[in-house]
Amino acid sequence: MHIFVTGGAGYIGSICSEELINAGHKVTVFDNLTEGHRSAVDKRAQFIQGDLANREEIFAAVAGAKPEAVMHFAANALVAESMTNPSKYFRNNVASGLNLLDATVDAGVKKFIFSSTCATYGTPEKIPMDERLIQKPINPYGQSKLMFEQILNWYDKIHGLVYVNLRYFNAAGASVQFGEDHRIETHLIPNVLKVALDQKEKVEIYGENYATPDGTCIRDYIHIHDLAAAHMLALGRETSASYNLGSGEGFSVRQVIDIARKVTGAPIPAVVKEARAGDPPRLVASSHKITSELGWRPKYPRLQPIIESAWAWHQKHPNGYGD
Ligand code: UDP
Repeated sequence: MHIFVTGGAGYIGSICSEELINAGHKVTVFDNLTEGHRSAVDKRAQFIQGDLANREEIFAAVAGAKPEAVMHFAANALVAESMTNPSKYFRNNVASGLNLLDATVDAGVKKFIFSSTCATYGTPEKIPMDERLIQKPINPYGQSKLMFEQILNWYDKIHGLVYVNLRYFNAAGASVQFGEDHRIETHLIPNVLKVALDQKEKVEIYGENYATPDGTCIRDYIHIHDLAAAHMLALGRETSASYNLGSGEGFSVRQVIDIARKVTGAPIPAVVKEARAGDPPRLVASSHKITSELGWRPKYPRLQPIIESAWAWHQKHPNGYGD
């Protein structure tokens, strides 16, 4: 298939593009390079530099590419930033996303795979989290993604657009070629590895008074390869659906740091800081639905190999993509 990938120069989009191409698909990447990196775009993909905020640009790009499906990765995705700058999240994730949706419908494309998030659930009433939980976001990031899911639902009803919402838990790890490089790094695993590489003095633990066994937040880390595999399976759906996507096991911030110490052999000093606004204590996926309906199963359910793959990439690219 020919897939139009927004955000294909970013962490998740670059690796999904690589795997789509490896599987025989054709990929057109559309990215404004504010967060992404030109050298993270697979050389076998066609690249269009453009901005979703520019309606004409995105209409021309989708109409010109004539893809069979759209995968929409481009977004802002930082919980803490969304708590101080909600406007950025509603503008980029909802309003600019709407330009893409209209361009998709206008070009007659009928399939849309959306990068959604477990943040649409807010603080869950039950763990592990399945798709029947109420979606009640506790930060503008999660709210913006939920709003886009709701818009997609209307576009299916009115325009017959088949969508798949993939609600990611915490994407982690790297492929051999591509990895995680944010210009301002806020994510736990890359920050821990920066300390191991002596690029940062200490890792900061955001809060130790959560209602969890060691007091630090618990997250479900999913290998980027497993995430990419789910996108490939989602392409085969003929009707709209939403799936949670995680490994099904939770690790606390302290556990992540301990495993990283083992993987890297570095002491990785840590210091406890204030809890971050908008962070729920525990997010762990039930991936039962995607397993039973699409046959998806994580190949890397354990955290250690996930961190090993990230560590291999960061050692080879200590300055990331260097831009
Ligand atoms: N976290 C932390 N120190 C850091 C970065 C993150 O303690 O330097 C915590 C954060 O509060 C959250 C977890 O680690 O509980 C995962 O955060 P990350 O930013 O990687 O992903 P998120 O869950 O926000 O998408």
